[in-house]
Amino acid sequence: MDNSQAESPVEPGTLHRLSPVLARLTAPNPGMMTGPGTNTWIIGEMDRVVVDPGPDDMEHLEAVAAAGEGRIRAILITHGHPDHAPGAYRLREITGAAVMGHPGLRGDGGSNDSAVDEPLDDGDRLDGEDFTLHCLHTPGHAAEHLCFLLEPGRVLIAGDMVMEGSTVVISPPDGDMTAYMDSLERLRELEVDAVAPGHGRMLRPPRALFDGVIAHRQQREAMVLSAVAAGDRWIGEIVARIYTHVPAPLQRVAHGTVRAHLEKLHGEGRVVGQDDGPWYAAEESS
Ligand SMILES: [Zn+2]
Repeated sequence: MDNSQAESPVEPGTLHRLSPVLARLTAPNPGMMTGPGTNTWIIGEMDRVVVDPGPDDMEHLEAVAAAGEGRIRAILITHGHPDHAPGAYRLREITGAAVMGHPGLRGDGGSNDSAVDEPLDDGDRLDGEDFTLHCLHTPGHAAEHLCFLLEPGRVLIAGDMVMEGSTVVISPPDGDMTAYMDSLERLRELEVDAVAPGHGRMLRPPRALFDGVIAHRQQREAMVLSAVAAGDRWIGEIVARIYTHVPAPLQRVAHGTVRAHLEKLHGEGRVVGQDDGPWYAAEESS
């Protein structure tokens, strides 16, 4: 998808206003898995809400608080991954605003307590003076993953359901390919005008975007299935066969995604096996 005409590249540390009720400040954590960095969204003009404060980076969080101009009343988290959530607690210290997210979101300390002050779940809505956010529970990349549909503008704040220029990692046990595909199908049916991903620029048109991601995953799934049918037994073998042009660090990531595909196929009764292998096509073992 070519967004180059629509928007200049994402620049960490620069507040980028996309509409009267939507601004983006990208955290300075660029990387292989985070693209230019994690997008922090500042929503609303009168009262404000922040989505995904990002990592615990003092300079970034102070910039987010400054952009909030003393009007931040809630801090929302799409999911608990370290590039999205830890900054929420520092931002809470700075602003006094409540941390909100799915009740399944866990704190870093390994405790079983929910890490949110106020739970949000599918169907909940948050009304600001000049905006509304509708919450959607979209498990797959992470079990507790939420997306937020912003009105006005019909913008989907998509967390890590999609990202610009790359595919999203779905790695068990936190990641679940069956749930991810179901969530993509659901997002595909929404009436939205643009998708605001956790990493990279705004993505349009949404329908074509989701169609593309779904088609890519279906293609990968077919490749995993035929690798197993061709005699690959171990995930490492399947990765080596399918992800031929991928550098070594990304092959490790691909390992998780292949496993997620195998677990989905296992759930559908099309392959037999567990963990790293051995895996068999369902016909072979019967
Ligand atoms: Zn992320």
